[in-house]
Amino acid sequence: MLLRSRRNFSKPHKIFSDLRDAEKTVITVNPLSAPVSFLIKNIPDWCDKEYKRGIDIFNPFRIICTCEEYKESSKEYEPLDYRRVCKHIQGFYTQKLKNELEPLAELLMAQNRKHGPEELMRAELDSIEFYYGFSRTSEWINVYCNEKQWIRFSYNLRKKRWSENIAPKNGKFYVELLPKYFSL
Ligand SMILES: [Zn+2]
Repeated sequence: MLLRSRRNFSKPHKIFSDLRDAEKTVITVNPLSAPVSFLIKNIPDWCDKEYKRGIDIFNPFRIICTCEEYKESSKEYEPLDYRRVCKHIQGFYTQKLKNELEPLAELLMAQNRKHGPEELMRAELDSIEFYYGFSRTSEWINVYCNEKQWIRFSYNLRKKRWSENIAPKNGKFYVELLPKYFSL
């Protein structure tokens, strides 16, 4: 029988066949920069109570749950960080708080559920904030920026191109700013 990780959002590490490939794709953060937390701020206080789903009990206001997924993510991320949101809390937000949370928080949570946790770097272009999302062993960097609404784009560092050739309006500048935050 195969034993599988209970952490259902964890992705296997990429297997490198050649160390030079590994060196090419590992992302190192610029020593002057640091990944940030992203806290969910505007959760209405009427949901500050315990809800039950099966054997698990969660509080969507405090972002706590008894499930295994939460036990793992709470070791890594600080209270109220979106990466602590487990499937129970996410399900509650989707059903009960549609469009009540910050749009960027919703986008980040959806991405987290679909692809697993990533590290986040807060960046600025002309005093306007945007975020780089990255995993240190991936050659892709996500860019979260506000183009009338918050939207995610993905850039491949090795191939130097945007995913499906869809670039953000300020894509050229987001790429130029990368060395400020990462040692590429
Ligand atoms: Zn849970």
